[in-house]
Amino acid sequence: MSAAPLSPIGLHRVVSPPGVLPQAATRLDADPTPGRDEVLIRVQRLNLDAASYRQLHTAHDGDGTAIRDAVAGIITERGKMHNPVTGSGGMLIGTVEAVGPDSPLGLAVGDRVATLVSLTLTPLRITDGLADWDGLSEQVPCDGHAVLFARSIAARLPDNESDELALAVFDVCGAPALTSRIVRRHRTLTGQSPTVAVLGAAGKSGSLSLAAARDGDAAQTIALVRDDAEAGLIREAKLADHVAVADATNAVATAEAVTAATGSGADITVVCVDVPGCEHGAILSTAQGGTIIFFSMATSFPAAALGAEGLAADVEMIIGNGYTPGHADYALSLLSTVPSIRSMFEARLAAD
Ligand code: NAP
Repeated sequence: MSAAPLSPIGLHRVVSPPGVLPQAATRLDADPTPGRDEVLIRVQRLNLDAASYRQLHTAHDGDGTAIRDAVAGIITERGKMHNPVTGSGGMLIGTVEAVGPDSPLGLAVGDRVATLVSLTLTPLRITDGLADWDGLSEQVPCDGHAVLFARSIAARLPDNESDELALAVFDVCGAPALTSRIVRRHRTLTGQSPTVAVLGAAGKSGSLSLAAARDGDAAQTIALVRDDAEAGLIREAKLADHVAVADATNAVATAEAVTAATGSGADITVVCVDVPGCEHGAILSTAQGGTIIFFSMATSFPAAALGAEGLAADVEMIIGNGYTPGHADYALSLLSTVPSIRSMFEARLAAD
């Protein structure tokens, strides 16, 4: 490891460029020797962020070997899994192998954990060349080491869930927590329950966000999905009051679908699609004075900001911070209280 003084936010692990935080670094030092306030994790499985995996899958025409080589190459080159095209990462699970004497995280050797900080800032070294992964799923079985800084977060893996399920839920657990917070805030501020539209509603973050909106007592929920098969899933799961089929990258079709259900647009729109180009549909679908949560990593700041300005849309736009206090426990609780969410996650994992 570098001789730089230990930093609780991992500055000592930044190789290049100088002066940036680990998330913005092009390369991290992934030496598996933990500093005094670090935790070393023996990695068992990565969950690649959906936008990242989709980009890799498209760029390599679905060729699993090429995708695997690309991911291995990124990790080797950058000392972390930080997709240079999408800028996104994912998270991982593993077992705590060593704990520095000054680590404040409260973890012990042998704890099985999921990191709740992005792979884009987590020093990572893979030792098996990803040999057990066919390159055709977002989840990547692997062997290697990762490092957590003093200012990191990790959750102990629940005993009663499979690793795969817990990993998939934790990866997107920021979405339902933030949705719930914004729904409750709307009720506090206006005294009324909001209408909530979720774009990409049949996916992992989308289905959890729908459940969170209901849990927060939304007046109406609208699920916008890509095709009839996804619409059937949402209807069967009884997750939304209205289900609409539209391409979320088609702004007009998206807005028509949402306003057909809501009249003047949703009070809150949550963007959970894993492809670029959904900003304008979200803006057009949202009522004046409403709020948009851009959870998707494929969101473009200029497209959102300039699109709203160009439409004279008085909407609040929130970047979907992956961290909200209590987010992991809240997402797990939705799995228990809404059994159809569990079924949807299990079906997705089985199809992978
Ligand atoms: P996911 O499970 O793959 O869900 C995405 C959904 O969007 C899928 O149902 C997909 O349908 C649908 N979709 C794709 N293109 C569409 C289109 N043109 N129109 C309508 N629907 C479309 O993804 P996820 O894991 O929930 O992640 C969703 C987004 O959140 C990704 O961009 C991911 O990178 C991001 N994310 C953000 C954070 C954060 O901290 N903010 C953390 C994790 C993930 P198909 O399956 O049929 O393609």
